[in-house]
Amino acid sequence: MVERRFRSSSIKKTKKKTPKGKTKTHYSRKKPSKHRCGRCNKVLSGTPNDRAAKIKKLSASEKKPSRPYGGTLCSDCLEALLRYETRFNVKYGFEQYEDMELKRDLTLERYLPTGWFNDLSKE
Ligand SMILES: [Zn+2]
Repeated sequence: MVERRFRSSSIKKTKKKTPKGKTKTHYSRKKPSKHRCGRCNKVLSGTPNDRAAKIKKLSASEKKPSRPYGGTLCSDCLEALLRYETRFNVKYGFEQYEDMELKRDLTLERYLPTGWFNDLSKE
C-alpha cells in the first residue's frame, strides 16, 4: 500500500516510464482552482493559478493585471463599475442632469470604497 500522505484525493498521480522500462507512479500536489471574477464568476485572465510557493517567485506584474481592481473583477465588470460611478458623478456634479434616472446596482456598489456616495451628496 502507498504511504498515507499519498492516499489523499488532493494528490495528482502520473504514471512515468523509467529508462529501465518499469512504470512508476509520480505523486504531485494538485493546482488550486482558477481565480474568478467577484461579481460574475467568470474565470479571470492574467492571474496564474499554482501553489503559493510558486506564485511567490513571480514578479508583481505576473501575478495580476496592473489596472484597478485587477485580480478581483473581470474587465467587463470593471467597465460597468466605472460607468456606474461616472453616472452618479454626472448626476450630482452637473445641474442639467439632475433629473436623470438612476438605478442602484448593489453588486457593483460592493466594490466602491465605503462612503463614496456621502462625498457626492455633500458637494
Ligand atoms: Zn465579472
